[in-house]
Amino acid sequence: MKNKKNVALVAHDNKKPDLLDWVREHIDLMVNYRLYATGTTGNFLENGTKDVGALQIQKLLSGPLGGDQQIGAKIAEGEIDFLVFFWDPLEPQPHDPDVKALLRIAVTWDIPFACNRASANFLFSSAQEADNYQRQAPDFSDYLQRSVHQKS
Ligand code: PGA
Repeated sequence: MKNKKNVALVAHDNKKPDLLDWVREHIDLMVNYRLYATGTTGNFLENGTKDVGALQIQKLLSGPLGGDQQIGAKIAEGEIDFLVFFWDPLEPQPHDPDVKALLRIAVTWDIPFACNRASANFLFSSAQEADNYQRQAPDFSDYLQRSVHQKS
């Protein structure tokens, strides 16, 4: 059986309708993936796709309550293949440090991610490529073996 890819979906409040729209546009692809989302995004997407065959989404905590960090932890543990994160560039977020941390960890672990619709379209422009994509975990052994000087 084909290995399902794991896709994490997150959107700030003003961007949730945009993400829903994008998910609906790509519903044929999305039903083939194991989906994760922060709590409110997950509920919003589930409710908004009921008419086209409900999506199965594993919902984590709401982003500002730790959901972004949960997704970050899943990335670090190798559980997420793609991240679609529609963050809002026009509104300050109370959990801005978590937002930065999620983006940072996605870059650290070389996760393909998209933060707007155009990039998300590119990321999934070929379903076959997305399906065949094999995550290559970066090698951090040099970093982990770096010498740290003790205070004398
Ligand atoms: P939410 O979180 O889906 O619970 O609204 C989104 C976010 O991380 O800001």
